[in-house]
Amino acid sequence: MEPRRCAVIGAGVLGASIAARLAAAGQHVTLLDQREPGQATSRWSFAWINSNDKAPRHYHDLNQAGIRAWAELAPGLDGPAWHRPVGHVELAADPDELAARVRRLADWGYPARLITAAEAAELEPALKPPAPGVPAAWFPEEGYLLTEPLIDRLVADAASHGATILTGDQGRVTALAEGRVHTGTGAILEADEIVCCAGRWTPALAALATPPRSASPVPLIPWDTPGSTAPGLVVRVGPVDGAGPSRVLHTPQLALRPHPGGLVHLEAEDTSAAADLHTPDPELRGLAAELLHRARRTIRGLDRATVTDYQVCVRPLPADGQSVVGRLPGAGWLYVAVTHSGVTLAAHLSRLIAADLTTAGLTTGVPPAELAPYRPDRFLAARPSA
Ligand SMILES: Cc1cc2nc3c(=O)[nH]c(=O)nc-3n(C[C@H](O)[C@H](O)[C@H](O)COP(=O)(O)OP(=O)(O)OC[C@H]3O[C@@H](n4cnc5c(N)ncnc54)[C@H](O)[C@@H]3O)c2cc1C
Repeated sequence: MEPRRCAVIGAGVLGASIAARLAAAGQHVTLLDQREPGQATSRWSFAWINSNDKAPRHYHDLNQAGIRAWAELAPGLDGPAWHRPVGHVELAADPDELAARVRRLADWGYPARLITAAEAAELEPALKPPAPGVPAAWFPEEGYLLTEPLIDRLVADAASHGATILTGDQGRVTALAEGRVHTGTGAILEADEIVCCAGRWTPALAALATPPRSASPVPLIPWDTPGSTAPGLVVRVGPVDGAGPSRVLHTPQLALRPHPGGLVHLEAEDTSAAADLHTPDPELRGLAAELLHRARRTIRGLDRATVTDYQVCVRPLPADGQSVVGRLPGAGWLYVAVTHSGVTLAAHLSRLIAADLTTAGLTTGVPPAELAPYRPDRFLAARPSA
């Protein structure tokens, strides 16, 4: 089959992964981003690779395949620079919920087991001793990724297979038409396939391809409205005295993981719920200080630590919570890929998407069955007819 010209819009973890897969498959790839690669949501993500509480079953399986796909990719892509399969310790508030989840996951073939508080402290030596009897669990195959070095390597890998990388005005997509991508410099790029991986901006790009005022074919939870659930507050603190945490750790009040430069990355559900893109800076600083306070109570070595970064970052959240992957209804020349859990999913989704766009989708006409639940046309069926 002749190589095709593929324009991939968006160089976050998803677009960079897809560009690398398509370029390695011999396609003529141009990867476009309005900024430098990896500077939007992917940069600030907690980046926990997991299928810990994903439903229904097919979405669980997709995420579990995502964890494995990173492990397969790591040896050939300088894995030590970005792949951290360090396992996950959870101290939970609700013993019944935790036991039921661990049982379900184990039934589904996902490594998970209940442990004692003492075992949790052994697995994570930085953890201050939890109260005996606190419900805990261990998920050995989970971990996290360092998205900045990862995306650097994916983009370099795409380039080493001939991809062209356009950033800034050259990479900013301003208009779309069948076979044509218009950019901020006024240039027009011709493409046989246009793949949109613009994260939270996907609806805006999809709108460029569909008739004015039509309902969005890619409904995401609106992320710019006050009180939206899509934004989350991310905080980094340091320095850490001593070894610092080595795993992904969840407690009822806090989620944390190690971060390069001797830092610790912190998040929590309630502080994220209290922050959106309109939250005044003094409030954000107060929430960040609260997370540092909780972290000091949870792990050792933070007595000298201060908040080094805080950022409200936005989840691309499809309306039904699951990935949206495939050709746009009414504008089949535009292929979209947008998802929450994009860090967990990108290695596997990109493999499926490359197959969808090359061998399986085009030559045999049999697209990967795993993608069937995630096609954009499911939202058409959900809409009441006019
Ligand atoms: C607080 C938080 C915690 C999270 N935790 C996890 C987690 O633990 N595990 C997990 O798996 N996932 C997690 N996620 C979700 C995950 O981070 C995202 O699903 C993933 O980063 C999305 O990647 P992306 O490549 O689709 O989007 P992005 O990284 O946002 O990339 C999109 C790119 O498109 C570009 N773009 C947009 N418009 C244009 C245009 N017109 N022209 C050119 N370029 C354009 C942008 O500049 C950007 O670089 C979290 C997200 C948040 C916010």
